[in-house]
Amino acid sequence: MSDETIFTQIVAGEIPSYTVYEDETTYAFLDAHPLAPGHTLVIPKEPYERVNDMPPELAGHVFQTVSKVTEAVEHAVDAPATTIAFNNGEEAGQEVPHVHCHIIPQFSDSTAKPIHTLFPGADIADEEMEAIAEKIRSSQ
Ligand code: AMP
Repeated sequence: MSDETIFTQIVAGEIPSYTVYEDETTYAFLDAHPLAPGHTLVIPKEPYERVNDMPPELAGHVFQTVSKVTEAVEHAVDAPATTIAFNNGEEAGQEVPHVHCHIIPQFSDSTAKPIHTLFPGADIADEEMEAIAEKIRSSQ
């Protein structure tokens, strides 16, 4: 866990934010550089760096908050859809080392595309797919 992040400073009120939700363990606020009106970040108050660093109960609660806040965001800005995303680790584009879920409203003029347009793709043989699946099953 990180000691302190820009987001723990937001939770502590040391840095101002447009807070939209708070409970005992989670917090949500508007992104300072919004990709759309209503772009919101949901975080655990404790500065776990990655989704899979969080204890399971907290991870479940973060997802509950994401669901609840998404409903409110869509209603508030009259968005028919939302992109919901975690960049999980530096190599995935995570800039702030404190778990955060982006909720980005999408409208009829959205430029959002299917996820397969974002990355070049990987050509993986059937045997390797099965070997990878088995490793994932046995790693839990
Ligand atoms: P990521 O690049 O996925 O790590 O996302 C970090 C997000 O935090 C970016 O979308 C930033 O715009 C947002 N951000 C950084 N500093 C602040 C801040 N002080 N208040 C609100 N959002 C912030």
